[in-house]
Amino acid sequence: MSNRLVILGGGESGVGAAVLAKKEGFDVFLSDSGVIQPGAKSLLHEYGVAFEEGMHSRSLILTADQVVKSPGIPDSVPIVEDLNNAGIPVISEIEFAGRYTQARKICVTGSNGKTTTASLIYYLLRNAGLNAGLAGNVGQSFAYQVATQNYDIYVLELSSFQLDGMYDFKADIAILLNITPDHLDRYHHDLNEYVRAKFRITQNMNQDDCFIFCRDDEISMDHLNRIVLKARMLPISQKVFVPQGAYTSQDRMHVSYGEEDFEMFLNELALQGRHNIYNSMAAALSAKIMHIKNPVIRESLTSFKSIPHRMEQVAKVRGALYINDSKATNVNSVWYALESLQTPVVWIVGGQDKGNDYTPLYDLVSDKVKALICLGVDNKKILECFEGRVPCLIETRSMKEAVHQAYTLARPGDTVLLSPACASFDLFKNYEDRGDQFREAVRKL
Ligand code: ADP
Repeated sequence: MSNRLVILGGGESGVGAAVLAKKEGFDVFLSDSGVIQPGAKSLLHEYGVAFEEGMHSRSLILTADQVVKSPGIPDSVPIVEDLNNAGIPVISEIEFAGRYTQARKICVTGSNGKTTTASLIYYLLRNAGLNAGLAGNVGQSFAYQVATQNYDIYVLELSSFQLDGMYDFKADIAILLNITPDHLDRYHHDLNEYVRAKFRITQNMNQDDCFIFCRDDEISMDHLNRIVLKARMLPISQKVFVPQGAYTSQDRMHVSYGEEDFEMFLNELALQGRHNIYNSMAAALSAKIMHIKNPVIRESLTSFKSIPHRMEQVAKVRGALYINDSKATNVNSVWYALESLQTPVVWIVGGQDKGNDYTPLYDLVSDKVKALICLGVDNKKILECFEGRVPCLIETRSMKEAVHQAYTLARPGDTVLLSPACASFDLFKNYEDRGDQFREAVRKL
């Protein structure tokens, strides 16, 4: 009987998969080449899961009938290559967990906006009284929730790495928000490969399923024009009218699905900014597909609180508004952040560069940014790119220093924006740590 299941990676998804596999009667073994956190270890003990850390023992792993691999482990590591050469199936935790639940699945992917949109949809479903869970990259893993909860619907945030390990899984509603070059290091620097990974969200869908995509996103549309999908196609757009799907006209957004319609003023949306209109349209459209009543949709889209580190308004100090957008780890999300602001901006930017091309920001920066504060170990590239485009450029090496500089430069009515365009690992543990330090420094002003 094909019963031996090996899990690579002892993080949130790996431990969740282990718990579910144990409940389903598999012979489970978990292996992590690094350190497993104490909380995760005690859960493994509790469920009687055998595991190792600090190594991958080939003899224990290559005897697997199937392997669940954490999305953080690239295919290029030797143990994964060995598994592939041995023909042992390697799947993701989402694929695995999907086999053990009958729940409907609303899946969200894209280069930016996944967490925001997934959280917003979840909020809508709960407000409508539905028995829904939120999983994927947010909160507890999908597998753990399948093992321990009994939800009728899941909202799943899916990264391209999770999608890579998905084969038979099918979404009932799939949402592809946008595609901009990101993580290309994991895709042989081939944009097409990354695009194909994102489109895996549509695999196995049939005519009863819905695919929500952004009609204004060039890369998505380019790929869509070359493939045929069975799912019901529902575009969202802020540029053109769409008969089915969602679009904006002047001050309103309109949603149409089948015979049902929904309309709302844009200035009533809790999440402001052009990018968030896309997120709200995708959420409202999903809600309509789920037959949620219009007043519930309107109320939810108005009352949703933005999530930490994403255009989070921290405080007003001496008349200047401080915004924490620490999660903006690529150029595209900074573009939307700057685009959404109508005031002069003191911009805190920098960190670990991921091969950024800053040119798409030049116009917005010239228009809006009065001072640029570099916060990183190596600021050379940013300084070179923006020299002459911003009246004032400053280098800093700690959050405290950056916030203090911002404080001296900001005038009443300005916005101080932390929107780094870079990863945080040079000076911080992660983007949350960076955002937390920002919030703390602002509160101490
Ligand atoms: P993800 O989960 O895909 O990383 P988040 O919802 O955490 O996305 O948002 C990450 C960053 O992207 C935030 O800085 C936010 O302001 C920006 N953002 C959110 N939605 C969009 C969108 N639809 N298009 C572009 N940028 C967005």
